[in-house]
Amino acid sequence: MVKVHSQAEITASSPKQFSDHLPEAVDLVVIGGGIVGIFTALYANRQGMKVLVVEKGRIAGEQSSRNWGWLRQQGRDAAELPIVMEANRLWEEVDLELNGKTGFVRGGCTYLAREEPRLEKFAEWIEVAKEHQLQTTWLSSEELAKKIDHNAGEGRGDSPWVGGISTPSDARAEPWKAVPAVARLVHTEGVAILEDCAVRSLYIEAGRVVGVVTEHGSVRSEQVVLAGGAWSSLLLQQHGVRLPQLSVKGTVAQTEVLPEILPGMAIDEGLAIRRREDGGYTLSDRNPQDMYLGWHAIRSMKHYLPTLKSSLANPRLRLFGPLGFPDGWIPKRWNSDQISPFEKTRVLDPEPNRDAVESLIREFSILFPQLGRPRILKSWAGMIDFMPDIVPVVDRVSEFPGLILATGMSGHGFGMGPGVGKIVSDIALQKEPTHNLNRFRYSRFFDGSKLKLGPVV
Ligand SMILES: Cc1cc2nc3c(=O)[nH]c(=O)nc-3n(C[C@H](O)[C@H](O)[C@H](O)COP(=O)(O)OP(=O)(O)OC[C@H]3O[C@@H](n4cnc5c(N)ncnc54)[C@H](O)[C@@H]3O)c2cc1C
Repeated sequence: MVKVHSQAEITASSPKQFSDHLPEAVDLVVIGGGIVGIFTALYANRQGMKVLVVEKGRIAGEQSSRNWGWLRQQGRDAAELPIVMEANRLWEEVDLELNGKTGFVRGGCTYLAREEPRLEKFAEWIEVAKEHQLQTTWLSSEELAKKIDHNAGEGRGDSPWVGGISTPSDARAEPWKAVPAVARLVHTEGVAILEDCAVRSLYIEAGRVVGVVTEHGSVRSEQVVLAGGAWSSLLLQQHGVRLPQLSVKGTVAQTEVLPEILPGMAIDEGLAIRRREDGGYTLSDRNPQDMYLGWHAIRSMKHYLPTLKSSLANPRLRLFGPLGFPDGWIPKRWNSDQISPFEKTRVLDPEPNRDAVESLIREFSILFPQLGRPRILKSWAGMIDFMPDIVPVVDRVSEFPGLILATGMSGHGFGMGPGVGKIVSDIALQKEPTHNLNRFRYSRFFDGSKLKLGPVV
């Protein structure tokens, strides 16, 4: 069994960076200081809105600092792709403004296949890339052997892959520092940010959302964006709003500094690997490993049956989630003057799956024998908020005027975050959307539509 330091970079004990006073009223309250909330705040503020971001724990403490750091356009759902392509440009723009503080590097993304059938999926997706003029190229086994350096380190290895595809404009960024850096920028531009400030409930008057009730008091606002990641459905349940969003645990590991095999990221049937700014690699597995059942999961299960049947999205179902998990057996209702489940778990910090880390080390050693068994410096886990069709909800909720949902990023939100933030700020400003958002509408789960599953790597 691997013995590694297992702690995420941002936890509930990380020092607080933002503690503004709670204003009485603003134009826009953003619930959640992850990438979606912070980029929404950036663009809404730049378009003249007075914005408040409320975060129950730490900025980027949850998914936004725990992810793999892939800013991937390749393989995205056809409806997401234009948004992700815009996000790719916005990432570069904000990184320039921040003098490289997000760790943005256009290192490219390569999908690899050990078995022929996977190549068929790549062929389908290459047609989507062509439609959107995104340059993606086929690579033969020999080309892959040159691209992914099997001569790095001491020995030689042949390509274990039958082929692959690559998108050179795909990029990577460093999750531990990117969103906190953007949050500091947003803050200097005038957005109020509060950490350790949970929203206990929406503030509703005459059927309209008119603000939020936080643990430190109420704030009035004509518009409220819910960008609460894994917690969004729990807050909505409080108001009888259904959202069939669940969460699954993904485990990630950081290696010691190793020679450069590739400048960006690559993924095959067994391993996902990204070059890090510090000279190591971020390793993971394409399948999230664990899904914890609770009331909400059981109630939402009918929406998930097709997803769970698909071979790639098959996490192990676990009956008892750790105490305080959003989908666990926790109370659905509480009063706004009581401590809520959001305060009880300031930062969702699940234990990494040890077997998964062991398997990552094994896969890495098989694929790159010349580098030996990598030493793992750190491992951590994050709960991924995902929707039954693996694409997010970005929409207003017609039952509750004033409420905008930006949640269920389904494992894509780090790459797509700036694009989603821009769209959400436009929704809040009642502007005509610049992308077709039909696929991301809230009503798709309840209006009799047949759900269309988004692509999985
Ligand atoms: C292991 C893992 C690997 C991933 N890899 C990638 C990747 O390589 N590329 C990619 O594009 N995406 C990846 N993702 C997905 C990506 O990280 C997420 O989609 C993205 O970070 C979601 O951002 P968010 O702002 O919606 O949510 P989060 O980052 O989860 O932020 C939501 C915030 O809301 C706060 N909050 C919730 N409820 C309340 C409340 N009531 N009051 C106040 N605050 C509240 C939470 O504390 C949290 O900080 C990965 C995710 C994980 C976990």
